[in-house]
Amino acid sequence: MSVIKAENISFVYSPGTAFEKKALDNVSFEIEEGEFVGIIGHTGSGKSTLVQLLNGLLRPSAGKIYLDGKDIWEKPKKIRNVRFRVGMVFQYPEYQLFEETVYKDISFGPGNMGLDEEETDKRVRKAAEFTGLKEELLEVSPFDLSGGEKRRAAIAGVIAMDPDVLILDEPTAGLDPLGREALLSQIADYHKVRKNTVMLVSHSMEDIAAIADRILVMAKGKKYMLDSTANVFAKGDELEKLGLKVPQVTKIMMMLRKKGINVDPAVLTVDQGFNEILNCLSAR
Ligand code: ADP
Repeated sequence: MSVIKAENISFVYSPGTAFEKKALDNVSFEIEEGEFVGIIGHTGSGKSTLVQLLNGLLRPSAGKIYLDGKDIWEKPKKIRNVRFRVGMVFQYPEYQLFEETVYKDISFGPGNMGLDEEETDKRVRKAAEFTGLKEELLEVSPFDLSGGEKRRAAIAGVIAMDPDVLILDEPTAGLDPLGREALLSQIADYHKVRKNTVMLVSHSMEDIAAIADRILVMAKGKKYMLDSTANVFAKGDELEKLGLKVPQVTKIMMMLRKKGINVDPAVLTVDQGFNEILNCLSAR
């Protein structure tokens, strides 16, 4: 059974007003337990709206969302439980740090869930470790952390709730290339160990190329495709038409193919591209 199922969901902001805006239009998909799914799409394609619907922050204007087969809005008063199970890291989450110490900030979520001190402590330390936050930083003020460390602390706060589904909305936005890479590999490592479902929103295909099992491509509020990462990358031309920047290595493969050189276009990393070209040369 799928862990998350979206069935014909639509979402309209400010319905019935002059500002009415249909952000999602009849979107359906299923996500299996343990999958790592990337969500890509141009700005305004509906990614943020979609993920806020998945954890019950927004309620669909039409359609249903199921968590483990149960309609999440069946009992609206219980929606808090959905938010505990589907953990959400917002864009620029570091702006939500507000406690005196990093420790207190990370323990805020588990505390809210009613966990005792011992369990909370375990979770805080584990979450800090998962996100690569050094133990000694737990006792400092979050405002004394660097930008990258603040981001990690905020992510650790959601991981500490141990969600079955972890959703991250543009977790690498604003980080430098090294910081981006480090954070992504930490998220990938977390997923490998915890084996939960992770959904990562990004406008960069490059970010998710090496880590996602499948990619959901959004365009103008609709599901454009949901397929394996390799199959999505193989459609680089279409993605470019949607205004998505395909990684340079994928672009090189696309150009080689146009020149009649029979390389596999579904290349995700520079290493794979290198091997693909080598194979092609030795086959000649
Ligand atoms: P993305 O995350 O892909 O950039 P969003 O889900 O933020 O897309 O936005 C989808 C559409 O909904 C866009 O046209 C956007 O302008 C609109 N939108 C987003 N938030 C609001 C809001 N609070 N009120 C009205 N329209 C909104």
